[in-house]
Amino acid sequence: MTKATAQKKSKSDVYTSRENWPPYTYRDYPNIKPETYKAFQEFLNTENTSGRLMELQPWISVCDSKCTFCYFPTAPTNKVQIEHYLDLLKKELEMYAKTKYVKTSLFDEIVLGGGTPSVLTAEQMIDLIDFCKERFNINKEYFIKVTGSSKTLALPKIDKLASYGVYQMDMGAQTFDDRIRKMLCLPDTAADVEKAIRHARKLGLCVCVDLMYNLPGQTMESWLDTLKKAIELDVEIDAYSLHVDPGTMLEKMIKAGKSPPTGNAEFEKQMYLSAYKMLTDAGYKAVGHDRYSRVEWHMRENCLNGWPWGGILTTGAGCFMGYLQRFSYSNIENIDEYMKTVSSGKLPIQRLSESSDDEMMRREMSRLYLRLPVSKKEFMEKFGKLPEDVFPKQLKSLKEKGLIEIDDKEVRITKQGEVWKGNIAWEFAANQPC
Ligand code: SF4
Repeated sequence: MTKATAQKKSKSDVYTSRENWPPYTYRDYPNIKPETYKAFQEFLNTENTSGRLMELQPWISVCDSKCTFCYFPTAPTNKVQIEHYLDLLKKELEMYAKTKYVKTSLFDEIVLGGGTPSVLTAEQMIDLIDFCKERFNINKEYFIKVTGSSKTLALPKIDKLASYGVYQMDMGAQTFDDRIRKMLCLPDTAADVEKAIRHARKLGLCVCVDLMYNLPGQTMESWLDTLKKAIELDVEIDAYSLHVDPGTMLEKMIKAGKSPPTGNAEFEKQMYLSAYKMLTDAGYKAVGHDRYSRVEWHMRENCLNGWPWGGILTTGAGCFMGYLQRFSYSNIENIDEYMKTVSSGKLPIQRLSESSDDEMMRREMSRLYLRLPVSKKEFMEKFGKLPEDVFPKQLKSLKEKGLIEIDDKEVRITKQGEVWKGNIAWEFAANQPC
């Protein structure tokens, strides 16, 4: 299908266009206030009785170059004193490690995220992971994941990480089409990415690649070729639809006519459907946000399945995925400001939100966005009500449209609902009446 033939909305469509992100992203959290900081510190002095395993996420918020679509707050590698940053990152980790809540928490994932953690040497990465293993309670079965780009993942570095025990290498491959890679300012070629992946797979590492669709100038053929390559390389796949974020280089390029625009809503949907078909035909299962997995463990990953009651303890400049029970937070983005705040002994939180029961009920419903069922039993235990008592209108309407199923035990999305899972999540957003 070309973009031209995909202009019209199909008759069977329930919504005009697909929402690709649910509500409750960090941008909506309020700036930290003295009272929320106090409440968070009091919370950190309580015991973690959730019984859920958590993810520990130190961020290395630096990159060698800036991809045109990227909205992540990163600093250029050559402007950061890496050793100093690592010292302060450890100081922040230590602040959390000393709290009662973290002392009574158990982690089963250590994820070096960012940014591009692979700008560090293998020794620096291993030292940071060792630090985490010493200071935090780590579950008997645990997994170490490291994000990197092929430009900074020389083969000997991959060897060292594999022999240390890294389980997964995450790579922002985005596309195997060099014409588009160049336009997005990705720092390496498709052949470089392929070489690093093949090497890591040969060593037994799990590799997970981010792939994006509906990129400017991307044809359906280019998208399907990228997917075919990923299947051939036997990797896990996070397939995202491009969102052109305000303030990014890409937004400016499109506005100035220096880049083609993205495809329309119908073309975007067809790209999603084609990927879904090709990947599920190849034995992948769609799980979580946008993951296609052939690895059994990823389907039972605790930080995913525990939403919204598990937790991600994220640290580092600009990190934004932190959530501990009712608290969600993101850190100061400017790396110098971050380092100054940590040096002064304060947690470097920029935005912090404490959810009320009403908000937690809405968050619980966003499990549908993650392709997870909403357990009626758990909902009743937490809130003393059933989902249909709280959201009768939404549940009735979504059921009538064939997007969800409800039985005695749970609410879950249907196959038809998967396409619209973002829209379903928005039905339960705070500005929607029940
Ligand atoms: S490598 Fe990742 S974090 Fe860095 S600029 Fe590119 S997309 Fe953003």
